[in-house]
Amino acid sequence: MKQSGLGTAANPQSVVILGSGCAGLTAAIYAARGNLKPLLIDGHEAGGQLSLTTDVENFPGFPEGIQGPELIEKMRRQAARFGTEYLHGEAVGADLSRRPFRLTINPHREIFTRTLIIATGASARMLGLASEKRLLGHGVSTCATCDGFFFRGREIIVVGGGDSAMEEANFLTKFADKVTIVHRRDTFRASKIMRDRTLKNPKISIAWDTVVEEVLGADVVKAIRVKNLRTGKLSEIKVEGLFIAIGHHPNTKIFEGQIELDKAGYIVTHGNSKTSVPGVFAAGDCQDHVYRQAVTAAGSGCTAAMDAERFLEAEEH
Ligand code: NAP
Repeated sequence: MKQSGLGTAANPQSVVILGSGCAGLTAAIYAARGNLKPLLIDGHEAGGQLSLTTDVENFPGFPEGIQGPELIEKMRRQAARFGTEYLHGEAVGADLSRRPFRLTINPHREIFTRTLIIATGASARMLGLASEKRLLGHGVSTCATCDGFFFRGREIIVVGGGDSAMEEANFLTKFADKVTIVHRRDTFRASKIMRDRTLKNPKISIAWDTVVEEVLGADVVKAIRVKNLRTGKLSEIKVEGLFIAIGHHPNTKIFEGQIELDKAGYIVTHGNSKTSVPGVFAAGDCQDHVYRQAVTAAGSGCTAAMDAERFLEAEEH
């Protein structure tokens, strides 16, 4: 819940953070320790992508690995300990043309802030098929962690050739009898360790040079029509699940026309976390399409909070 009378046009917050993933929560820890009393707005996917993942093996400090949701929960508690305030809701509008900046939050509310840290992350990309959309939640999924359990003893397809596809496919073999990875090329983009793990997994087979043409089924997924790009041959694979793991797009729509975005919609940052609007900072996957790791998101969250703090200090003196 929101406290205090802060956040009005007359009495704006010092800093509002949009997004509750690794970047947003790290920004909150730093801003709170800097005594800025940050308000963090959760966003439509609380906890961000880490909350949808299982084993995190590469976050420093956890030699045995840690579950994504547990890591997020620890960060949340750490930020709360120093006075971060949380608001459940999603920013659906922003006016960054004058200060204090005005944010429209759903459920309906307006919040004013002197500085803004955007850590809205990125969301799963879809194939763009009408049938995929229709059967989303009825056999089509973008989250193995969330839905894998429902496919115990079934056969499924994972689309993609990056680390996400490898991770999802391997995870899904805990439940499914057989997982087929459908990839549009003849080599994986994924890192060597993930590739090797996948190729060694006896429950996983690969359909190389293949794309999904259609998801078949009236109410639930019954089969997938695929096309081999080398031969042009169409075939149907009988499966009950389709997991799409083909990357992400940045959640920056409400900032279009207000701050500089690149062609793919990622926020352009100038010198660490600064955006094209003074007082607006960006961190994590909404501004990083290269590294996209939990640890780099955390690092950029720290940078954004320090930049916001310095910005406010400079303004006060
Ligand atoms: P990614 O690396 O961008 O890979 C996306 C994959 O999907 C690529 O193989 C791409 O094919 C394919 N693809 C894209 N659009 C497609 C379409 N319309 N139809 C069919 N296939 C399509 O995305 P990601 O796997 O989500 O990984 C993103 C970042 O997170 C990477 O930096 C990755 O290292 C990191 N990550 C790390 C871990 C880990 O370390 N445990 C786990 C997950 C993700 P092409 O190869 O032909 O382009």
